[in-house]
Amino acid sequence: MNEPANFLSILTGSFALPAAENPTVAMIEAAYRHHGLDARYINCEVPPDRLGDAVRGARAMGWVGFNCSIPHKIAVIRHLDALAPSAAIIGAVNCVVIREGRLIGENTDGQGFLTALRSVIDPAGRRVVLFGAGGAARAVAVETALAGAASLTIVNRDPDRGRELSDLIAAKTPARAAYAPWTSAFRIPEDTEIVVNATSIGLFPEVDARLDFAPETLRPGMVVADVVPNPPRTRLMRDAEARGCTTLDGLGMLVNQGLVGIRLWTGLAADGRVLRARLEQIFGV
Ligand code: NDP
Repeated sequence: MNEPANFLSILTGSFALPAAENPTVAMIEAAYRHHGLDARYINCEVPPDRLGDAVRGARAMGWVGFNCSIPHKIAVIRHLDALAPSAAIIGAVNCVVIREGRLIGENTDGQGFLTALRSVIDPAGRRVVLFGAGGAARAVAVETALAGAASLTIVNRDPDRGRELSDLIAAKTPARAAYAPWTSAFRIPEDTEIVVNATSIGLFPEVDARLDFAPETLRPGMVVADVVPNPPRTRLMRDAEARGCTTLDGLGMLVNQGLVGIRLWTGLAADGRVLRARLEQIFGV
């Protein structure tokens, strides 16, 4: 890249770390340094009522794109020119690409999860149980379904949100989808091949929190993935390992959503090991 490029990150608040240690900023800047890119990724806190100004500013200043996080992921859509297909289905945008003055909304959370998942299993034809129906769960569910998963069972505490997500998957993707109420000591169906925690249970500082399911229903051979990045070895990861499951931590999703963003903004296929190493340093792995 010849011209210096700026990236706007609209504050992320879910990692419970000081802003200076914002993991997304740190891992992306580590990649820029490693690859000698003349670019910066900076974190700007934008209040909801100034979001439109911030987006117009990014365009005016010639930024090549930006990430945005809660509470802007849905609100940003009305300031964009177009949405990528999966972002349109998910109904949320965490990454914007500015090309020739046009702003395109992407959702790289789901793409990042899918890339990480494919490093351990191809979801095509698989039966998936997904805990959660919030923003991360929507992204994971849509991408996994579009990647050919046979079925998704959505387990969520709030039944309305859970049903809304299973209805969305059934209507907009080829996968079968059903909502299952999150009853106490939930039993993961025996034929499940992939289990995903897309809730915030286990996120720092609640590091010992457990998902309420019957532990013996985790079987050897199942793939168990967690979206929670901090700490990377969540209680779920430890429990699943102890039961002989293949595990996938939340750093995989975080690294890969970063790689997708960097590729969309700069065209560079960055080295994921550099991003992961920086995150492991921050999270003390
Ligand atoms: P949301 O607030 O949108 O959704 C939270 C989800 O967690 C909901 O399904 C909610 O259920 C559920 N939940 C929270 N607490 C409980 C509880 N005590 N018992 C049962 N269910 C609970 O958050 P996000 O989807 O944005 O984030 C979820 C997690 O994903 C966070 O830990 C975040 O750090 C992580 N994340 C990781 C990324 C990565 O790259 N690794 C990227 C994006 C997010 P209900 O609907 O019933 O309230």
